[in-house]
Amino acid sequence: MPLKISMPFSRLFFPLIAFLLFGSVAVVLWQNQNRHERELVLRHTETSAEQIRIRIEGMMKSRMASLELLAERWVERTPPDFSRMRFVQFAQTIHDHYPGFKGINWIDPDGVVRWVFPAKSNEPVLDKNVHQHRDSRVRDVFQGVGENLRYAATPCVELYQEGLGFDTFWPLIFAGKVQGYLNGAFQVELIVDTCLARDVLKNFGIRLYEADRLIYTNAKPGDGNPGKDLLRAFREINFPGKSWRLDLVPKTTLYPSISAQNFPLLIFGLTISVILSLLLHFLIQRMQMYRQARDHALHEISERKRVEEALKRNEQKLEALLTVLAAKNAELETFVYSVSHDLKTPIVTIEGFIGALREDFGALITKDGEKYLNYMSDAARKMELLINDLLELSRIGRLTVKKSEVPFADLVREVLKTLQPRIEERGVQVSIAENLPLVYGERKYLAQVMENLLTNAVKYVGKENPSPRIEVGAREQDDQKVFFVRDNGIGIEKIYFDKIFEVFQRLPSAKNISEGTGIGLAIVKRIIENHGGRIWLESEPGKGTTFFFTLKETKD
Ligand code: ADP
Repeated sequence: MPLKISMPFSRLFFPLIAFLLFGSVAVVLWQNQNRHERELVLRHTETSAEQIRIRIEGMMKSRMASLELLAERWVERTPPDFSRMRFVQFAQTIHDHYPGFKGINWIDPDGVVRWVFPAKSNEPVLDKNVHQHRDSRVRDVFQGVGENLRYAATPCVELYQEGLGFDTFWPLIFAGKVQGYLNGAFQVELIVDTCLARDVLKNFGIRLYEADRLIYTNAKPGDGNPGKDLLRAFREINFPGKSWRLDLVPKTTLYPSISAQNFPLLIFGLTISVILSLLLHFLIQRMQMYRQARDHALHEISERKRVEEALKRNEQKLEALLTVLAAKNAELETFVYSVSHDLKTPIVTIEGFIGALREDFGALITKDGEKYLNYMSDAARKMELLINDLLELSRIGRLTVKKSEVPFADLVREVLKTLQPRIEERGVQVSIAENLPLVYGERKYLAQVMENLLTNAVKYVGKENPSPRIEVGAREQDDQKVFFVRDNGIGIEKIYFDKIFEVFQRLPSAKNISEGTGIGLAIVKRIIENHGGRIWLESEPGKGTTFFFTLKETKD
């Protein structure tokens, strides 16, 4: 079953789902990118921490080794030379080759610092007795060196020279006797500055701890750790006598704060999501419009089909009715024909006996009697005319005559010939158009059409008409030949245009003018319709009438 969602809800539902989907994808991509970058930074931090460890350890080990070497070489020579000059020579060489020393000093067996190098920066320690050092830890370590006769390093303390640092002591033993102590002083800050590249210092917050004490940091309060502890790297830094802990944190210069990380990427992703959702929204709208249009069209089609079927059914009913009607008509016409035929016999009898009355009793018949006989004879004649016309009407369509091509002009001329006496009597001017076409049909009936129309034209051209005129012609209209018979007679009122084609319909105006049965035009109409044509008229009372008609032109 198809998913049916109400229109306004579905309009919002799919775009909303799409937005959530695309938006989630954008957020996931954004997070991935951030994670990837974080991993890169973490790796960079780890590598840098390792480098710092290696460098500090390397540097300090080499410095220790150099001091150890100096101590050994100092006591090696025989006879021994513990002169100040020799010390300065050694110290100078080491100091020049191995940067990072705060000081290289000689301490006499009593613990007093006697010689210092470089002299200037180590002046504060000159003549100081280490046994009386202000920091007890230094005192303790130095005491231990004297007792154990072994190298040792102090914890980080405030140096006399300056800054935080530590001292290393080597006992100088010659011939089993302590000749003094070689002292290397190291300032933590100097060690870090010597070991580390500038960009490491710039990009990382560096913290060095000895035990739990912070002995160095370049981190400033605002530096921050954007990755929190995730991006931190720790290392143990070990060199003789020392163990430090390095805590390395990338600064915001290297790794921007979380909120700013690839933020444009997220905004771009979300914008694309919104655009895609809107596109989907419009697409759905379009689809709904198309669906509505389609449903509408389908509805219309089914409605049209329904109407067509109803029409078809009606047509079939009508056809059946027509068949019944045609049968009834034929029956009726046969009946009319037989009745008309039967009526003729009594009329002939009436007329015959009127003649016999006149012949046998002519002398006895009074004037009034003669008048009544005339009335009877007129009525019988009129009845005969009516019956003849009715018979004629019933014959049309029932009795078929062979169809042929007939020159229309010939038909007109033939009819006019029979009408000639009445035309002349009335002084009617008749004009026939030239080049009248051939017509196709039953010659006898076509002649009857023209006879009835022309007889009427002559009849109703009017007795008082000073210049009676009749015109016969044909013209081309809508690719069809239209024939016409025109007179300038009494005319017909528009309300009677249909009525005059009905049987027995005579207009009051006609009754004064001449006799008639009122069947002539009914016969004309039926003949024309039997020939596949149609008849109509234009007329104005007092101005004349024109009858137009068409005929099916081709042979069937
Ligand atoms: P009839 O001429 O025998 O009366 P028709 O059927 O031929 O019968 O004509 C019917 C009626 O139409 C006529 O009675 C007459 O009133 C009218 N009519 C026919 N032709 C004309 C015409 N050319 N001008 C005026 N009226 C006419």
